[in-house]
Amino acid sequence: MRAEIIAVGTELLLGQIANTNAQYLSQKLAEVGIGVYFHTVVGDNTQRLLQTIRLAASRSDLVVFTGGLGPTQDDLTKETVAEHIGVGLEINSPAMAHIEAFFEQRKMVMTENNRKQALVIEGSHVFTNDYGMAPGMGIAHEGTTFILLPGPPSELYPMVESYVMPYLIQLLPDKQVFHSHVLRFYGIGESALEAQLLDLIDSQDNPTIAPYAKEFEVTLRVTARAATVDEAEALIAPVEQEIHDRLGQYIYAIGESSLHEVFVSELKRRGETVACAESCTGGSVASLITMVPGSSAVYNGGIVCYTNEVKHRFLDVPESVLQTDGAVSETTARILAESIREKLGSTYGISVTGVAGPDPSEGKPVGLVYIGIAAEGMPTVVKELRLAGKRHAIVKRAAKYALFYALQ
Ligand code: ATP
Ligand code: MG
Repeated sequence: MRAEIIAVGTELLLGQIANTNAQYLSQKLAEVGIGVYFHTVVGDNTQRLLQTIRLAASRSDLVVFTGGLGPTQDDLTKETVAEHIGVGLEINSPAMAHIEAFFEQRKMVMTENNRKQALVIEGSHVFTNDYGMAPGMGIAHEGTTFILLPGPPSELYPMVESYVMPYLIQLLPDKQVFHSHVLRFYGIGESALEAQLLDLIDSQDNPTIAPYAKEFEVTLRVTARAATVDEAEALIAPVEQEIHDRLGQYIYAIGESSLHEVFVSELKRRGETVACAESCTGGSVASLITMVPGSSAVYNGGIVCYTNEVKHRFLDVPESVLQTDGAVSETTARILAESIREKLGSTYGISVTGVAGPDPSEGKPVGLVYIGIAAEGMPTVVKELRLAGKRHAIVKRAAKYALFYALQ
């Protein structure tokens, strides 16, 4: 199957935004063995879009559009594809109900142009937009399948994962399944990970192994194609085992959930709770945890103990320790973790103290971070880290390390 991607939007041509949707879509199509032969960017202009569609239809089996499904005048993708096919637009009732509910929930008045978003190409298959208003759609015409998707990545990605990929897979000629496991790593960078798996990555084509880094975490997607999910699982198993043997210490989960989500669900499952004493992360650990719905079952609370005075007065770090060992020290991290755990009556106490930079502090280098994990009935563990990067990166990484260590 030959595919191409058309990104619609003048702001792409002006260089105001990068065409990351095309990159993402190409990766997704490659995962299921669909070859992408062209990426086109075209502005919000009916004539030029029409030309682009005609050319694409003449040479491709699958044409995926992103952008221009919104409510404004310059959003004209579905109108133009409909014109090419020679059909009209029709109201999609579920989409209309979804849009009305969106406005009702926010007590906002719905303007007429928002109704436009419930219009879909006549006879098309509709993809629900769980994170926005404009639905996506798919329609076949003279041997070419057109897929229309919204521009905002926050809407496009979940729509592709949940609805578009299953739709595309059933279009594939040989009814194969594509099944993947996502291995999630922390504490190792993408290039280090790749270096340790290079021979595997290079020699495998079923399953394929694709590393991906985001938000300081690395994931590895192991995808197999086979006649059934069970057969795909059987292909994945030995490769996954080999990866485990080499890098198991860095794997925190297999699945779609990221570190903070895994942390919350794991504590919830065990009926355990956590409290945090954060110095250099300034509340980032708490922020990660509380981003997860239902975190109130596991997160008791915390103290952002930024100054020495707060560390001393509220979390019992002796002044002598602060003077001799310093605020950024193993001893301080240990006491902070134990104090916060005790004071808030939680299963775990997490502490983070370190130098986020840009300047050294207490004569200690930027990137030096101590993480304390106190647990009921167990000796407190303190980890020393030397993190690289700017202030923002050090804070983010330290916060995630805290969750990673607490999970162990
Ligand atoms: P909206 O309902 O927000 O108008 P839309 O489907 O009409 O969505 P556009 O108006 O084309 O989409 O783009 C909306 C936003 O989505 C852009 O401002 C940009 O932030 C993002 N976006 C659009 N196209 C791309 C792309 N190809 N790659 C990355 N981001 C994109
Ligand atoms: Mg728009």
